[in-house]
Amino acid sequence: MNTRDIKSMEIEELKELMADLGEKPFRAAQIYEWLHKRLAEDYEEMTNLSKSLRQKLKENYPIVSLKPLEIQTSKIDGTQKYLFCLPDGNVIESVLMKYEHGNSVCISSQAGCRMGCRFCASTIGGLTRSLLPSEMLDQVYSIQNLSKERVSNVVVMGTGEPLDNYENLLRFIQILTGEGGLHISQRNVTVSTCGLVPEIRKLAREKLQITLAISLHAPNDEKRRELMPIARKYQMEELLDACREYLQITHRRITFEYSLVKGVNDSPEDAKELAGQIKGMNCHVNLIPVNPIKERSFVKSAKEAVEKFKIKLEKYGINVTIRREMGSDIDGACGQLRKRFIEKERSENEGIFGY
Ligand code: SAH
Repeated sequence: MNTRDIKSMEIEELKELMADLGEKPFRAAQIYEWLHKRLAEDYEEMTNLSKSLRQKLKENYPIVSLKPLEIQTSKIDGTQKYLFCLPDGNVIESVLMKYEHGNSVCISSQAGCRMGCRFCASTIGGLTRSLLPSEMLDQVYSIQNLSKERVSNVVVMGTGEPLDNYENLLRFIQILTGEGGLHISQRNVTVSTCGLVPEIRKLAREKLQITLAISLHAPNDEKRRELMPIARKYQMEELLDACREYLQITHRRITFEYSLVKGVNDSPEDAKELAGQIKGMNCHVNLIPVNPIKERSFVKSAKEAVEKFKIKLEKYGINVTIRREMGSDIDGACGQLRKRFIEKERSENEGIFGY
């Protein structure tokens, strides 16, 4: 951990820091509350701290506070996409979705991604770096501050592979759901993974109440390998075994995400084979008609094919939902806003330097 990144510190670490600075231990609780409950963006707001302490902290422990470079708002359903600038100039995106049951924020866990899923825009430029706990937290905090509405659900389904940033992800969850902060219920936190088997097994033992979502996207290894390079590392059998272990330890129902690509994984036979693979598991399948990206030729399954796929799964006793499309009038697929921004910057620089 970066020992100067104050927003990534748990309360015990803040207490140690106060001791190091010669301050009373109760200062730690005050600062923690300012950062994680009152969502302060600057030490100047922390009026119950002495001026000298504020000054000392300001000089040595900068507060990670993300600034929006762009906010897009859907005219259809109010969904908002935020493009945030990180302290080092990298950009990431987050999404705010408004539902009847509350506001949900989808956050990025990395700038870029190295998993290489074929249909995903986030992975095209590769991985730039993993995000710090503070940078994950502040996507939620900034959006709550900017929208002035409480965030009740958090999904780690934006750019990046959260289990490829394991330690930071865990710290993020602890601070987000802990008592001294926003105290979001762990049951309202979902982590989505492309299927890193050892990390799934490890996560099962962390005594968390979060929901695990697995990006399955195929009914067998052959088809999965075509779409997701990670399937070459871990076979579906190993992945589903890890899921069974996760279920056994946590008793938390697993979600399988399945992006439907026309003519690739959306036939009734695919549905039947998928049902056979996950039969008997406490799970739920979320069908997502693939969001086409211009770099690839994947085509979204027709509405009727999606409906048929759902009915077929249900016939085999599987719980299924079709993901409601949110914000379809703004840069749709995961990672597209960020990618468009990076491409624009590059072409402008080429304009300057390219003669
Ligand atoms: N790396 C994690 C989380 C990020 S992606 C994971 O793989 O789960 C979040 C979800 O969106 C994943 O299920 C991913 O496969 C899916 N996804 C990415 N690009 C998509 C696209 N263009 N259309 C439909 N689903 C997509």
